[in-house]
Amino acid sequence: MQTDGILIGVIADESRGFRRLLGVGIAGFLIALSGVACASSQGAESGSSTQTVPPVAAGATPSSQAGVAPAATGADNAPTTEALGAEALRYVRVLSTELGPRDTESGGEQKAAAFLAQEFQAAGLQVQQQGFSVVVMLRSEPRLTVTAPAARDVSAEPMIGSDEGIGQGVLIFGGLGKAADLPTGGLKRKVALFERGEIRFQEKAENAARAGALALVVSNNAAGPLFGSLLAGVGIPVVGISRDDGQSLKELLAQGEVMVRVAIKRVQLPSANVIAELPANNPANNPANNKGGIVIVGGHYDTIPGVPGANDNGSGVAVLLTLAKEIARKRYPFTVRLVGFGAEELGLWGSRRYVESLPAEERSRIKAVMNLDVVGAQALIGALGDAALAQDLKAQAASMGLSLGVVSGDVSSDHLSFTREGIPAVILTTPDFSVIHTPEDTVDRLEPLRLGQTAALVLGYLEALGQR
Ligand SMILES: [Zn+2]
Repeated sequence: MQTDGILIGVIADESRGFRRLLGVGIAGFLIALSGVACASSQGAESGSSTQTVPPVAAGATPSSQAGVAPAATGADNAPTTEALGAEALRYVRVLSTELGPRDTESGGEQKAAAFLAQEFQAAGLQVQQQGFSVVVMLRSEPRLTVTAPAARDVSAEPMIGSDEGIGQGVLIFGGLGKAADLPTGGLKRKVALFERGEIRFQEKAENAARAGALALVVSNNAAGPLFGSLLAGVGIPVVGISRDDGQSLKELLAQGEVMVRVAIKRVQLPSANVIAELPANNPANNPANNKGGIVIVGGHYDTIPGVPGANDNGSGVAVLLTLAKEIARKRYPFTVRLVGFGAEELGLWGSRRYVESLPAEERSRIKAVMNLDVVGAQALIGALGDAALAQDLKAQAASMGLSLGVVSGDVSSDHLSFTREGIPAVILTTPDFSVIHTPEDTVDRLEPLRLGQTAALVLGYLEALGQR
């Protein structure tokens, strides 16, 4: 998830310093989005291929949960909110502890895709995987290394839009990197160290490149790592580091010459959307009925590297898997699709790829898209996105005695890939993003009631839509 036009986790918009935002996708790199998600800077991707998923081999993924006793039901045979919550929590446990980090780069995402496919299939839905590839900046290799006086790696994030490459040489401090700040000796064949602030990253990078620098390191002017973006590459690798690391480099410079190596490498990685479908109720098998409406419930199943991602977005995926069992027992006068989006944390790649792959005729039949992202915090569930749909869900929630909270700010997640194409979509989220994208995003912090309420709200809304 991303907010305020800024990438998940921690992204810096240049002037206002640093805000911990939603989590996203710190993986590989983040897409600093000035107001809109625009992962396109992340390089080309080759076309996508959709294939029906063969039965998953035993043992390939965590044991199937499908056989576990169905949720306890209330008077109307509908599962209780508590039972749905308990069911979803079990799935979060499998995703965040048995599977662990589900990032694109480490392959954790692929294991999660297989598990989703297995569970959707076991629930009795038709499953397809839509493969595509993304270009990411490799995280597994250090981006910044001090080579002298004493060798050590420094945690550094490649600026979105930065060119890849290697720059190695003497480190020179250049203040804020304004043209007037540049050291008299110039930066020819040196590596520049600038501080964040006052002027845009783009201008700092252009000044460094123009002055002949081999690479640029920008240190944050607020606590935490720096995730920044460039409007365009300047021909040298540009990375961001934390204020503390910037300070320690300056202290090192005060003691003598410092040599560093900056390296940014891009790789093309496979990802996929996992699509499960419940066809519309079409007893007469009348093809005309196949042209009915489509309702999509989705959520990204990837995480950033190195975190359990229980809430972001184990919670949303767990509700999808819980819904799979419930809707598979029903029929609606419209098609229902449950979609696990891949590579959201890298810039909404999966959902953009999915929307792009839909023929216009099919897009026009989409009645509603509900994107479930971070639905397990204590905070009340809120809906943000298409106003009419959000209002509709609010009314549905009220009819179920459930009050929806407010989601403020510019939350950017997979629903945006739909709304941008005029398709009615909302995000359902519990807007407390304080620990997502950190190792603290663990299952024990989740509120199962919120998981259950999210599932019940979606089921209730599908029911209501079916009555209209
Ligand atoms: Zn998310």
